[in-house]
Amino acid sequence: MTLAIIATGAVQNYFGILGADRTFSVNTLEGIMKARDFLERRKPDKIAIIGAGLTGIEIACNLTESIAASIYLVETKTRLIPQFSENVSSMIEKTLSEKGVKTLVSTKVQEIEEDRIILSDGRSMECDMAIWTAGIKPCDLVQSLPFAKWRDEWILADPYLRASENIFALGDNAWIDIDGKVASKTAVEAERQARHMAANLARLAEGKNLKRYSILASTDSQVALISIGRECAVGVYGDMCVTMPTKLIRALKYWIDKSFIQRFK
Ligand SMILES: Cc1cc2nc3c(=O)[nH]c(=O)nc-3n(C[C@H](O)[C@H](O)[C@H](O)COP(=O)(O)OP(=O)(O)OC[C@H]3O[C@@H](n4cnc5c(N)ncnc54)[C@H](O)[C@@H]3O)c2cc1C
Repeated sequence: MTLAIIATGAVQNYFGILGADRTFSVNTLEGIMKARDFLERRKPDKIAIIGAGLTGIEIACNLTESIAASIYLVETKTRLIPQFSENVSSMIEKTLSEKGVKTLVSTKVQEIEEDRIILSDGRSMECDMAIWTAGIKPCDLVQSLPFAKWRDEWILADPYLRASENIFALGDNAWIDIDGKVASKTAVEAERQARHMAANLARLAEGKNLKRYSILASTDSQVALISIGRECAVGVYGDMCVTMPTKLIRALKYWIDKSFIQRFK
């Protein structure tokens, strides 16, 4: 029997915005190195981060500690990290403001030129560096595959992580909706799905039936550790938010990240 597993992850989604491909990206190691090199060599005065999700917020906070630049965070929705509660958004907004980050919500970027950003309300903003953290999509290969897709983009995988009879899809390129829960696009989920997939392959080899997958980190789960600088992080659990960022939370986040990465060495 021939099987295939599609696990190509995701790439930046520029939503067709003109000039967006000239922005910096932190989605890959190569992208991060390029951005770091630019920061070190060119020392930009004005940096715009487009997208105020977890990545945008973490970058903004960390940049305030490493470079003397004006940092702007631009978000099209009405508040920062809109996937979390309003309480969490306000707490993060306060933290960013204390760190000197200027936030622009309900503001859509319409076009990116070499030294400025055009906003949808007609205003424009000068900037020496723009970092894109506004969204992801599956790569072109996945888009071209003839499987059922969610929103014409993500491969729809069933509870056994199958895209079709002998083809499986997991991780960021798959849309996995089981019993009303949708798997989040996180490393935590991708790794669990991979383990489940491996166990299912062993079952297939032994002539056994596939086991259903169960989602741990769903898109509606409100648990996060958000790094808001080199020494601090904020813990979020539902509507609760540890409003006093502590070194302890930062240490816990570092420990979780490190032990996770250690497993792949
Ligand atoms: C800045 C940032 C911070 C994040 N922080 C966290 C976090 O704190 N916690 C968390 O749980 N998740 C986090 N994530 C999300 C996490 O990184 C992803 O959900 C996870 O990496 C998805 O795993 P994957 O295996 O599906 O895809 P990937 O890790 O993207 O791996 C896919 C691989 O396939 C390769 N590939 C693509 N196309 C092809 C092809 N045609 N042929 C061969 N190879 C191909 C790619 O190069 C890539 O190496 C973060 C993501 C980003 C961008």
